[in-house]
Amino acid sequence: MSAAPILPGATIGVLGSGQLGRMFALAARRLGYRIHIFSPERDTPAGQVADLEVVASYDDLEAVAMFGGGVDVVTFEFENIPAATAEAAAAFAPVRPSGVALHVAQQRAREKSYLAERGFPVTPFAHIRTEADLDAALSTIGTPAVLKTASFGYDGKGQSKVSSADAARAAWTALGKREAILEKFIPFEREVSTIVARGVTGWIASYGLIENSHANHILDISVHPASVLPAVEARAAEIARGVVEALDLTGLLCIEFFLTHDGELLINELAPRPHNSGHLTIDACMTSQFEQHVRAICGLPPGSIEPLRPSAMANLLGDLWAQGEPDWAAACAMPGVHLHLYGKAEPRAARKMGHLTALAADTRSARRRAVAAREALARS
Ligand code: AMP
Repeated sequence: MSAAPILPGATIGVLGSGQLGRMFALAARRLGYRIHIFSPERDTPAGQVADLEVVASYDDLEAVAMFGGGVDVVTFEFENIPAATAEAAAAFAPVRPSGVALHVAQQRAREKSYLAERGFPVTPFAHIRTEADLDAALSTIGTPAVLKTASFGYDGKGQSKVSSADAARAAWTALGKREAILEKFIPFEREVSTIVARGVTGWIASYGLIENSHANHILDISVHPASVLPAVEARAAEIARGVVEALDLTGLLCIEFFLTHDGELLINELAPRPHNSGHLTIDACMTSQFEQHVRAICGLPPGSIEPLRPSAMANLLGDLWAQGEPDWAAACAMPGVHLHLYGKAEPRAARKMGHLTALAADTRSARRRAVAAREALARS
């Protein structure tokens, strides 16, 4: 892999076309790059702000090859891109992060085994392929536990908390007896995440911990900086460095952790891309996660990860549209509040349509402000 920088004016290709691709494209365009988006649909959040939106299926490897031939570097905005698609693009341009990170993060059992084998702390889990595996898992992991599909689960889809062996068997049957993992239920003190970038030349920059709360398994509010002890911050940075080095990752990685009541960090999930919990970095840090991703994959130096102000982010789901178009002016009238909308036409329930970031003198006030701004949007 050449370490020669890919400088502004060059073209970055993105596989995937949702809001992460959109915010990445906006950051890249501001730096003077051209952006090509590969999307299975037309007029997408990322396509709307790109120089070119190529509409084709991920399985159309000829289209992927053409796409790769027209750009200087390829990245992706979600980890469920088929491996063959990433490989087809890699024949024409470097794909960053490389297929290894994608492969590891695409399957929960693989991801957890990969991390555990290398000594990283993960939630205790067992891999389920057969009834016998499930019986064995129930005796080693016990209940309460969380049963999760091995692949294609996100935002709580394909997972359920089970409190007994019978409930676990019923949940697995409901999943169609698909490959899954049974994970010990962790009564965590809080959930935190970190976003770490690694550049082509090997530099590593990790944002301080972000504190997350979920509603219905979907991220609801993120707050930065997290209120944790310095030792926890240091441990998170150490784990983050270790994981990106093990994966030899070039680009961005989000690590979601459970922080236990004993102050221990357990890795819940990896995402080798920008992450919802990092959206607040756009308004609240010297360098956003999206710009950092551009710098990392293009061989530029890292930007400062310093926070400018304490911040909080509130997600805006399609449910907010239940009584009609939200009252945008009301939220925009609030000081220190930034509105981000993703250009999605159809506000379906639980669909991520946008987010609000609020900045304030301290994280408590930022959180209160973000929640108040979101409430101001809802029409009664
Ligand atoms: P995931 O899709 O694995 O990120 O899970 C979504 C959310 O479900 C997490 O952010 C947690 O709030 C909750 N969750 C998942 N696994 C566990 C677990 N093992 N123990 C406790 N809560 C969990």
